[in-house]
Amino acid sequence: MSKRDYYEILGVARTATDAEIKKAYRALAVQHHPDKNPNDPHAEEKFKEAAEAYAILSDPQKRAAYDRFGHQGVGAGSPGFDPGFSNIEDIFDLFGFGSDIFGGRSKRTTVQRGADLRYDLAITLEDAAQGRDEKLRIPRLETCEECSGSGAEKGTQPEKCVTCAGSGQTRYSQGFFSVMRTCSTCQGRGRIIRTPCKVCRGNGRIEKEKNIEIKIPAGVETGSRLRVSGEGEAGVNGGPSGDLFIVLHVKEHENFERQGENLYSVAPLTFAQAALGAEIEVKTLDGEEPLKVPPGTQTGTVFRVKGHGMPNLGGRGKGDLFVAVTVMTPKSLTKEQRQLLEQLAEIEDTDLEDQSLMDKVRNIFS
Ligand SMILES: [Zn+2]
Ligand SMILES: [Zn+2]
Repeated sequence: MSKRDYYEILGVARTATDAEIKKAYRALAVQHHPDKNPNDPHAEEKFKEAAEAYAILSDPQKRAAYDRFGHQGVGAGSPGFDPGFSNIEDIFDLFGFGSDIFGGRSKRTTVQRGADLRYDLAITLEDAAQGRDEKLRIPRLETCEECSGSGAEKGTQPEKCVTCAGSGQTRYSQGFFSVMRTCSTCQGRGRIIRTPCKVCRGNGRIEKEKNIEIKIPAGVETGSRLRVSGEGEAGVNGGPSGDLFIVLHVKEHENFERQGENLYSVAPLTFAQAALGAEIEVKTLDGEEPLKVPPGTQTGTVFRVKGHGMPNLGGRGKGDLFVAVTVMTPKSLTKEQRQLLEQLAEIEDTDLEDQSLMDKVRNIFS
């Protein structure tokens, strides 16, 4: 079985570069693709022939073997060699250049987006309620100004890696299949720096502290994340910067407990206030509010102070403040207080049985 010369099939010279071979193959693959030539029985043959030629000539080792030994050198004369692809996308994916011939989407491994950064910020409950502007100093990697990010000493340029021709990847072949691997000569950078920039030691980026002003919106809670677009680390080789994420931690407050948009607190009542009723002042996050306590108020009664909770993060209203009152028994009495209480003791009703109270007692001892 006589086979056509692979260079002849692709229509390139024996000295053709990898790029010329790839270009020639793409043109043939598109021209002869069976999907485009449904009525031409020779098209599929030509398509397969071109694919076979490309598979050999695009691989440096196989190409060298073919140049020395011809078809025998690459085992291509053996029966059963049939790429067997019907889908043009399969073929291009297999060869590692994606679908860029169809859409111009080229893979450039040397350009990388910068890393996202996380910054944990502790704020007070008051700040969470009101929102505030905050100035942060963020240590992060920025593009080196000395070398404009190239990593090469000022006045010099990085050189294109010869091993991978600047792509950052080399093709590794096993049988018909070829796999792209990160180039070991340049570690995938595609370039080699002979004289590194002294400021960034060849990295192209240096660690700097950047001042960033952020707006903390009212209503945030622990775990809320603020995203500052483009303020993460600088990209590599002109890639876009990552984002900065600020993760908020709201500190515990000595007077208030928070649950979602509502706040909870405890307020003391004297025995007389609880028995007679009173208007007391309760602490809120931003001051005090009057609260009417009706006569006969028991310890543990919860009052709602409307609209004095936390604001909704989306800006829709506010939660409420719930105040549980505790009747305080005086620990020391003046002489006059003692006399009055003694008078009260003589006349007060000591039959205190109350079903709800008894339930509580049972709960304590059960
Ligand atoms: Zn390389
Ligand atoms: Zn530099």
